[in-house]
Amino acid sequence: MTPQHRRYFEKLGINSIIGLSLLAPVRYDDLTPSVYPKLDELNVVEISVKSSQKTPKFFKVIAIAWGLEAELIIFNPKNFHYLAFKAGNKFFIRALVQRNFGKLQLVQPKILSQIGGIFSVYKTELASKTMCSLIDKYLKEESLIEEGLPRWASKKLISLHKPIITQNYVKSLKEAMNALKFAEIYLFLKTLNSKKQYFKASSVLVSDEREFIKSLPFSLTNDQKKAIADIKSDLAGQIAAKRIIMGDVGSGKTVVMFAAVMMAYPKKTVLMVPTTILAMQIYNETKKLLPLFVRVVLALGGEKNTQLDEVDFIIGTHALLYRELPKCDLVMIDEQHRFGTAQRDAIHKMVSEGKTHPHFLQFSATPIPRTMSLIHSSLVNYSFIKETPFRKNIDTYIIDKKGFGRMLSHVENEMKEGRQTVIIYPLVEESEILSYQSIDEGRSFWEKRYSGVFVTHGKDKDKERILDEFAKNGNILLATTVVEVGISLPKLSTIVIVGAERLGLATLHQLRGRVSRTGLKGYCFLYTNQPSSTRLNEFANTVSGFDIAELDLKYRQGGDILGGVLQHGAQFKWFSLSEDGDILRSVLSHMG
Ligand code: ADP
Ligand code: MG
Repeated sequence: MTPQHRRYFEKLGINSIIGLSLLAPVRYDDLTPSVYPKLDELNVVEISVKSSQKTPKFFKVIAIAWGLEAELIIFNPKNFHYLAFKAGNKFFIRALVQRNFGKLQLVQPKILSQIGGIFSVYKTELASKTMCSLIDKYLKEESLIEEGLPRWASKKLISLHKPIITQNYVKSLKEAMNALKFAEIYLFLKTLNSKKQYFKASSVLVSDEREFIKSLPFSLTNDQKKAIADIKSDLAGQIAAKRIIMGDVGSGKTVVMFAAVMMAYPKKTVLMVPTTILAMQIYNETKKLLPLFVRVVLALGGEKNTQLDEVDFIIGTHALLYRELPKCDLVMIDEQHRFGTAQRDAIHKMVSEGKTHPHFLQFSATPIPRTMSLIHSSLVNYSFIKETPFRKNIDTYIIDKKGFGRMLSHVENEMKEGRQTVIIYPLVEESEILSYQSIDEGRSFWEKRYSGVFVTHGKDKDKERILDEFAKNGNILLATTVVEVGISLPKLSTIVIVGAERLGLATLHQLRGRVSRTGLKGYCFLYTNQPSSTRLNEFANTVSGFDIAELDLKYRQGGDILGGVLQHGAQFKWFSLSEDGDILRSVLSHMG
């Protein structure tokens, strides 16, 4: 490749022929001559000029086209027009053909240097002509096949860029579209795979977890058992495990973690969780569930002097990242989406020694769509916990101003029964942009009417203490989305989400999952001034986090992102995460 062409490729942001093939033409110019004049269309035709005449408004040329006398109208004529359209000259033009008082008229003719085919027109960083020459030189069926595409897709892509005849456009364009999708996701996976690294595990972990499982006060769900079996075979391997265990809120991921701790014992395990309160909750669970001989320590910010060498299981927050940690053979992260990649990598590195790696398990309560996990499955393994031990019994209502009174009496009734309510506000302070109240505006309403009203928000330094007190003594908690993280509030029966349409479905699902965690009848009120939103309606009728992930995807791609944050980083030009599961599966099987 010449340096000039290399620069072109750089400018286009590509480094492969597949990458080039993905830059499809925006349209085609059909330069096949018309056999007869097609009215009100662009026609290609050979003309021979008979005479010409300048008028004040345009340049008029009389010529023979299709054996008929025609009038050519040229607005804003340039010098080259006067030169070309001289009596006796013969050449091909492309022009809009019209009939004017019985006369054939060819409007604004363009002189053609090439005819007899369909020419691709590109809109890229480069001029269309330059693109055509690159396509001509590099886009070859064999090159695409060499880079790993199957022959059918290569053929289709070639015909997309270098069409020969107009044929059955609709069908061939759909096939070409599939080839584009195929090539795009193929290239993505190929790049992903080239980044894949295996590391030798620092230890093979084969201790028996079965006594622990037997000792539990409940029996495991099938999905919990499956996840544990997946982990068991990972940890018994020579290669450091990389697994994400994905399970809805309340699906019982904590005992799965504990089972892994037992497999690792007497080797050390470290668990990082996003908040102190969650760390304490899990610590308390260990006291109830793990055998006494497993020495557990809660390593929070303050007490730096805690001896970490003498323990089997370290539980902490991101504060762990700022202290000395002993070598561990198993690293786990709970609510992994709450941490950045850098933090997840850091904890992993801190407890590694030499070239070997600890086994690495991440837990997530935010299911991702099926296609996403298929795409990522070349880098990381997945276990899914779809069943929940308690059937979640949550009624979801969409309300607006008119429903407020009804919601209020519901909250009062629940309070009388000793149950709690959380009200999620979109903002802390008043705002001119939003048509909803902020916490600051709303709080006096609740505080005047009810006792046991607690308030916290994301930036509140005291939020953990307030959540803790609310859990014990509160009736109503006013908060922003901070309650999202997996803490357990066993008396919480109701959640009210103000301005629900502003949040992504994944976030709404996380919030709704706070209630009915242990089988208590739950209620979720979505307060909105868009009560007829189909997106919210579908959400209200769907309980599984996995189904909601698919819904979310559907609406995100519809551009309905609103207040939600796009979590699914990868963006594709042709491939659709919600529609093209079949194409993805055929790419995966093609790659073997
Ligand atoms: P999450 O997946 O959201 O982290 P937890 O691990 O906090 O869920 O579990 C939620 C509750 O369910 C806890 O009180 C836990 O003890 C309980 N639990 C977990 N597994 C089972 C089971 N198989 N049967 C009954 N209760 C269970
Ligand atoms: Mg959890």
